[in-house]
Parts: sequence; C-alpha cells; structure tokens
Amino acid sequence: MTIKHVISVSSGKDSDSTLLIALDRFGKNNVVPIFCDTGNEHEEVYQHLNYLELALDIKIVRLKANFDNEIANKRMFIARDKRLKRDYKKVPKTDRNGNPVYCKNEDGSVRLSPVYDENFEDKTVILKYVPEQKIGYDSGRKRRWSNKSKRRALEVLIPTGNPYLDLCLWKGRFPSRKAQFCTEELKRNPVVEFQLELVEQGYTVVSWQGVRRDESERRKSALKFERIGPGMYVYRPIVEWTAAMTFDFIYAHGLLPNSLYKQGMGRVGCMPCINARKDELHQISRRFPEHIERISEWESLVSSASKHQVATFIPAPEIKNITNKQEGAKAHGIWSVIDWAKTTRGGKQYDLLANLEDAHVCSSAYGLCE
Ligand code: SF4
Repeated sequence: MTIKHVISVSSGKDSDSTLLIALDRFGKNNVVPIFCDTGNEHEEVYQHLNYLELALDIKIVRLKANFDNEIANKRMFIARDKRLKRDYKKVPKTDRNGNPVYCKNEDGSVRLSPVYDENFEDKTVILKYVPEQKIGYDSGRKRRWSNKSKRRALEVLIPTGNPYLDLCLWKGRFPSRKAQFCTEELKRNPVVEFQLELVEQGYTVVSWQGVRRDESERRKSALKFERIGPGMYVYRPIVEWTAAMTFDFIYAHGLLPNSLYKQGMGRVGCMPCINARKDELHQISRRFPEHIERISEWESLVSSASKHQVATFIPAPEIKNITNKQEGAKAHGIWSVIDWAKTTRGGKQYDLLANLEDAHVCSSAYGLCE
C-alpha cells in the first residue's frame, strides 16, 4: 500500500506549519503539497508559494476550478428565455385576520427578544424587549428575463479564467456567510477531485489539514485523525496548537511566514474574504485599495449577470443602516462597505485616529514585531 500525504497549502501560517511537519516526517518524495487558486488572492500569496518552493525545494501543485461549462449552460438557459424559479421572501407571520403570530416559550408564554442599542456594536446595551414574531414565507413571484436584461447578461457571461469571478458570474451572485458556496466550489471540490484521482491510481491518501481548535467554535471539536472514505483519511497535526506556536515553528525552520501578517491581516485567504472582519476590511482598503477597486468592477459585472440586476460582495442587509437592496450595487457596493468599515460604534462615527495611522506601520493582529 503506497501512501500519498496530500497537504493543502494556503500560504498561511497554519498550512505552512502543517507542510513543514509532513516534510520533516515523510520527506518530499512522499508529500504532495497542493494549493487551490481562487483567483481572489493577494499577490503576496503567490510570492509566498514561490518562496516555499525555492526554500524547501518542493513543487506545489496549483489547482484551479473551471466553470466554462456552467457558464455555457447558463447562456443557453437565458437565451431560451425559460421562466426562473419562484422567488420567496421571508416575512413576519400573521394569522387569517392579519394579527401577528408570536413565538412561544415552552410554558406557553410569548417569547420576548431584546432590542439592542446600535451605538454599541458588541450588543451589550439592551434598550427594550419586544414580542418575537414568527417568520414565514410569502406566496412568492415568478421572475423572467426581460429582453434588456438578457442582452446585458449575455454580454458579460463569458468565462474570464478567474475561478472566483466565473463562479459568481455563473451563480449571478456573490457567496455570503449563509451561502458560502465559494469554499465548496473553489477549494473543496478541486481538492476532493485531485485526491480521488490518486485513490483511483491505487494510492491511500492522507489529507493533511492545518486546522486549530482554538480558531473558532466550529473547529473546537476537530478530530486529529479520521477516516473519510475507502482509502482516504484526514490528519490534522496542529489541532492543539495556538497561533503563536505556528509562527515559532516556522521561524525555527529558518523560514518567514507570509508577509501579509505584518500588514494588518488576521488571516491569509481571499483578498478580501466574505468573512473579513470590519477592521480587516478597513486595513485592506488602506493598504491594498486596488483589490477593492477590483471587487467593485466584479460587482458591476456580476450585477449584469444577475436576474436581480444587483449583486454586492458583502450582502447589503448585513451592513447596518442599509435596508433597500434595490438601490443597486453602486449604493450598496464594496465602497459603501468600506465607508462603514472606517466607522466605529455601530457605523455612526468615523474613527479619525484610525484614519491618521500610518498605513505602512506593522499592525499585525498576532504581534509579530513585539
Ligand atoms: S470563505 Fe473566504 S477565503 Fe474561503 S473561499 Fe470564500 S471568500 Fe475565499
């Protein structure tokens, strides 16, 4: 039985450490480092991968999702003018007489939910309690493409070769926290496909993942080792590590972590990621405005390919004080998110000190320069 150790490398500190452990234990001939290129990466990511290849004398396999077929099928779908699925909207539930239907506690009493003071982002100040109304769906409405919107969509529905943009053009929207299809389509599927090919070739695949339990609630119970299918296993060697341990480990090997950590980035991934924190968005806009400009261009392309004619990188309802999505991508697009990211206290007050800070000073979230 020949084992292939497949290491998912993102160019971040966790996957760097995982790669180093694998190389220490099994040597470069038994280790296959892979990188999923989303197309929404910072240049430093590619540079760091090149740096690792040179420093460790290894080859990192680049995987790239392709959506040419999906885009071609969507073009056909629009051109044939098929009716689209019915759209349902979430609405507060009422009874036959139009009276609100409230959620109930176990003892039958009406459930109350707190109303927070928007001036305090961390939801620490409760203004009042109100009865919690049940949420249901309206009867929905069918949408079809108008000739104008068809022409507009067909103009932009052309594969660009950039996986992230092509995925969004195909879907007619950007991913969101609730619909995080980017991870599945751009990372998970190419990796699984790659590993299954190795299994078909007769290898046993051990997939190494740089996951730490202290990263998030969801990863708190991550197992160190598990079998995920015939001939396929997952190994997470650093589940018990802290972020500081990964940096120490990289330095102890005489290497440098990705320089993005020294430029205010809490994590290395998409630039920006849909899960980026408010302060990260602020940092990105100041240090790498060209990436925000790129996202703004993508918003206008994806809006054209969308049946709603509006698609924003960060869903508009997630931005405080913005509720009317129909105003368009310009009003609710990435630049309005950046304006919001520059504010403090729930988005009402601009943080002048934060804007005056020198954008080239090290402000690593991990205190690398301390
Ligand atoms: S979750 Fe973030 S980092 Fe992951 S693919 Fe989506 S945008 Fe990129």
